[in-house]
Amino acid sequence: MNNKLSCKEARILMMGLIDNELSNDNKLVVMEHINSCSACQTQFDSFNKLKEEEIIMNDLPLSEEIFDEYWTHVYNRIERATGWVILSIGTIITLTYAAYMMLKTFFYDESEPMVLKFGVAFLAIGLIIVFVSVLREKLRIRKSDKYRRILR
Ligand SMILES: [Zn+2]
Repeated sequence: MNNKLSCKEARILMMGLIDNELSNDNKLVVMEHINSCSACQTQFDSFNKLKEEEIIMNDLPLSEEIFDEYWTHVYNRIERATGWVILSIGTIITLTYAAYMMLKTFFYDESEPMVLKFGVAFLAIGLIIVFVSVLREKLRIRKSDKYRRILR
């Protein structure tokens, strides 16, 4: 197998090397040529310099875009967090009212001890808050699962 490259071939492969588009085998072959050929070494250095400048140039408008995107992201998160809080409070109030309506006769029953009424009230509200919290967590986990699937 002939691994020797001509300088012309080496310079074409250099572009791929700088853009990180070469297979490991090709990388080794070009690196070998660059290390043993001073003309190509000089060429490679100037290619690298150009690439660095290109990255810096491309970074300037990009960082502004990222900055905007970042604030949109932060704003969306605040908005969504507020939505979750309002949704949670609404659900807790609604479910507490429903529970109260169901247990109305119990609460108005004079023969039931006050302590038991407090106990049942706290139990119901506690259950509702835990229910809302678990539900919220389930919905959040499902959302991040979707993200994971896209990234894979
Ligand atoms: Zn060469």
